[in-house]
Amino acid sequence: MQCDHCAQDVPDGVFCTRCGAHQGTTEEFGNAKLREHRYAAHPGEHVAQPSVITTLFPHLGHNKIHEFRWAFTAGLAGVLVLYLAGLITAAILVSAFLVPVLYLIYLYEAQVYRDEPATILGFTLGGGIIVGIVVTILGRAIYNPFDYQVNPLGNPGVSIGALLVVGLVMPVVQEVLKAVPAFFLPNRADFPETVDGLVFGVAAGLGFSLAEGLIGFSSALTTLPAHVAPGNWIYDLATLAVLQPLLQGSATGMVVATIWRYRRGRLAGREIGGVAMAVIAHIAFAGGTLVLKDSAVNPLAILIWQAVVVGALLIYIRYLLHHALLEEAAHMGFAETVCPSCHTHIVASGFCPNCGMALTAAPNAIKRSRRPRKDPAATPSGRS
Ligand SMILES: [Zn+2]
Ligand SMILES: [Zn+2]
Repeated sequence: MQCDHCAQDVPDGVFCTRCGAHQGTTEEFGNAKLREHRYAAHPGEHVAQPSVITTLFPHLGHNKIHEFRWAFTAGLAGVLVLYLAGLITAAILVSAFLVPVLYLIYLYEAQVYRDEPATILGFTLGGGIIVGIVVTILGRAIYNPFDYQVNPLGNPGVSIGALLVVGLVMPVVQEVLKAVPAFFLPNRADFPETVDGLVFGVAAGLGFSLAEGLIGFSSALTTLPAHVAPGNWIYDLATLAVLQPLLQGSATGMVVATIWRYRRGRLAGREIGGVAMAVIAHIAFAGGTLVLKDSAVNPLAILIWQAVVVGALLIYIRYLLHHALLEEAAHMGFAETVCPSCHTHIVASGFCPNCGMALTAAPNAIKRSRRPRKDPAATPSGRS
């Protein structure tokens, strides 16, 4: 059949395997070429759905997503149990490591780093940890916002200077420095896709978050007795286990994804907006948290504020990646493969003709098992 949007001859299917456009009458969904109701990395979801796993772990197949959701939930349940038992030091440690460790498992599971795990992990997760140690220690020498967490009642009051440093200067400095190791990745030519850049950036951000969290809570970790009354710790634990790593990971993921787009010669308003969004979200998160803590509002309101900021950031990442995937998958040759999202056996180029998944976001094992096919026009159907 001929695609309504790119006019190429493609195998029959619901989606064009060349350009990813939704075929046929799709007025109900808006623009069929942009198909925003079908996120290119995970076609079961809308682009504007602030889902954590499918956004920050884009190479996972359908089944693996559920496994990671369960693992994340189990980890959070573990933190809750430790908190209720009064084992705060243990709860802090589990919280700080939870998302970074899940991400390490993801990188291994999807083989995102292919044959070069040491270089990739060193320049992303490792680089983030080193930048996190340096920036956090230097930042604390200037102003220590973690006094709040160690002693939530002894509120020292927030000055304009503190607000400028913690709420404005630190977020900007962090967003610049976190992306530096990934920028100097020596074998980046082997990983040309924007989705790779996103994953490397998230790994760097999570490394940073791990170092920042452990240093931030170091005085609590060393001075608290093993067993204390649970108290108000649950709010700080929720920030440490979920919201802080998601903010740091998403922001750097977006910045590094933009660097990758720039290297492909594709720097448009959407990408520049992405960097602006990452910096603004970080300022809103850090500055907002400081102001809210100072005004002694219900700690739950702080968590809601942080979640709103992270949710907005996740949606922008999906918007950026969706358009990058639609553009970048178009160059792929035809091959026989199995779609990681709908598990259909397909003959496809850039997109699954059945569910519309961008196959550049497939796990590496599936990309490797693609068996090239030369003549798509000779194929009677995209499905078998
Ligand atoms: Zn097309
Ligand atoms: Zn599919």
